[in-house]
Amino acid sequence: MYWRCWLDSSCSATIITDLNYELKNRGQTHTYDPNPLEVEKRRLLFNIQRRAADTVESTAHIVTSIRSNAAEPILIALPSHEALAQKIQRQRRKERGVILDNTIDFEIPPHLKVYERTNDQFVR
Ligand SMILES: [Zn+2]
Repeated sequence: MYWRCWLDSSCSATIITDLNYELKNRGQTHTYDPNPLEVEKRRLLFNIQRRAADTVESTAHIVTSIRSNAAEPILIALPSHEALAQKIQRQRRKERGVILDNTIDFEIPPHLKVYERTNDQFVR
């Protein structure tokens, strides 16, 4: 499986694992040392995107549940309730009409948390 760093679009860190998430090959490394708060914030934003794309939960429900589970420093760093709701609606418009690959809905092991699974190698 092919993974790409999703922390920053300018970061081109990639790795390849087998189906058991064993590291097979390491591409480029991260272009910076991510700070933990930023990583957690991006992780939550990523979760929001996934839930927007993969579930039929209401926008308000997703925003409320993400915000109510976030620690105080993260909450301050997150966009406003309204901005998050807009993100979800944008994501849903983007996904509409796209056939969702349900293999994307899986548990990401901790050592791969900053990577997003991608099919880039097949579509390019
Ligand atoms: Zn990176």
